[in-house]
Amino acid sequence: MELWFTEKQTESFGITAKIKQTLHTEQTEFQKLDMVETEEFGNMLILDGMVMTTKKDEFVYHEMVAHVPLFTHPNPENVLVVGGGDGGVIREVLKHPSVKKATLVEIDGKVIEYSKKFLPEIAGELENPRVEVIVGDGFMHIAKAENVYDVIMVDSTEPVGPAVNLFTKGFYAGIAKALKEDGIFVAQTDNPWFKADLIRDVQRDVKEIFPIVKLYIANVPTYPSGLWTFTVGSKKHDPLAVEESRFHDIETKYYTKELHKAAFVLPRFVEDLTK
Ligand code: SAM
Repeated sequence: MELWFTEKQTESFGITAKIKQTLHTEQTEFQKLDMVETEEFGNMLILDGMVMTTKKDEFVYHEMVAHVPLFTHPNPENVLVVGGGDGGVIREVLKHPSVKKATLVEIDGKVIEYSKKFLPEIAGELENPRVEVIVGDGFMHIAKAENVYDVIMVDSTEPVGPAVNLFTKGFYAGIAKALKEDGIFVAQTDNPWFKADLIRDVQRDVKEIFPIVKLYIANVPTYPSGLWTFTVGSKKHDPLAVEESRFHDIETKYYTKELHKAAFVLPRFVEDLTK
């Protein structure tokens, strides 16, 4: 019998993948966790019925979350990742030699545990000595931090369950407080086809707090609609005014210095969400 997984985006539309086998299923303290092996995309982490990452296309999202803000900041040393328990963003962050410390605050320890077990290519750097892993609520962590981080990356689930607070104006204000005076943050902000209101709301809220606010995009085939957005808020450094000399060679499969700029060129219906 064929087994297919479908992530429903609306009542009448979803994305679907054929499953070879289920590797693990569990209701954690925070969410339903499924790890499956798909035919097309390899091992896939699913939380509350939503695709988080897959072995085959994870590099797009993780590279684009990490490298855009890290090349924008002139000297990122202290970095925070909120969510991101699969370890993909951390792996990319560590490619920057200026980074002395990367802290991961993931609310669900089970995500870390099963990513290490079934997605070792993604989670492999979580044991790196430059990394501190904290199992806890990113909202609370941010609320307590002041003038600490150069770059903060919000690699969260969609605004349901434990991530609801991570899409609030109060959270963005906390991020501004937690960042140093020239700090920069990026947050994944879902897709413009089905979540246009979310993108518009985040843009509006972040603009009230940060002087430089931009939206960029990437193609992630296993995320709903395939077109994914990221919102940047920056106190001083413009991601579109990065000096050529800032870009150094790192091993990537999606990100390039040309793409860094091109990702900010938006289709008109997406650009409209930023106005
Ligand atoms: N790349 C994915 C996407 O956009 O679909 C998201 C990656 S997934 C690893 C996001 C992680 O955020 C989950 O492991 C979830 O447990 C974590 N998370 C959700 N709410 C959180 C919170 N309040 N604090 C810390 N981590 C949180």
